[in-house]
Amino acid sequence: MSATPTIGVLAVQGDVREHVSVLTDLGARVVLVRRPQEVERISGLVVPGGESTVMDKLLRAFELEAPLRQRLADGMPAYGSCAGMILLADRLVDARPDQHTLGGLDITVRRNAFGRQVDSFEQDLDFAGLDTPVHAVFIRAPWVEEVGADVEVLARVGAGPAAGRIVAVRQGPVMATSFHPEVGGERRIHADFVSIVSSRA
Ligand code: GLN
Repeated sequence: MSATPTIGVLAVQGDVREHVSVLTDLGARVVLVRRPQEVERISGLVVPGGESTVMDKLLRAFELEAPLRQRLADGMPAYGSCAGMILLADRLVDARPDQHTLGGLDITVRRNAFGRQVDSFEQDLDFAGLDTPVHAVFIRAPWVEEVGADVEVLARVGAGPAAGRIVAVRQGPVMATSFHPEVGGERRIHADFVSIVSSRA
């Protein structure tokens, strides 16, 4: 067990700074991941929110896709928010035809699932393992359409037209949320992730 795990934040596009600031406040050592050499130094990976199609293209252009896929297949802990959830999903619905993912979670994710009327909203959600609700900020968010047998559902939308939709999951050391805790001042999800990485580093 390492007291200060080294956590990589994928830094090709998206809200990198917000994740770095939460992780640093929680005492993690943070490495920005932009080159293959950085992939070797990390014990866990955060994939930020942003635009998954752009991140996918840049992952390939920066030759990060293959090494990250390999680390994830070998069991590296990872946490993805929003576009990060899309990138950690094994299967997508409403993806661009040429869109790849890194995979790692046995889930099917629908991009831009909430539709134009409610494409951005905030809601307090019950979250498995947390005793008070999480303030969730959704920005053109995906939802999880199907989960495999080994996937734990951590949160669902509580109210409104999308009530019951799955918006947070965990499978072993890999977690994902449709929403952005890093934007809403919520730190408990990152804290859980840091402790997952610490226990495995
Ligand atoms: N709609 C974006 C995508 O498909 C995700 C939005 C976000 O990360 N806030 O990548």
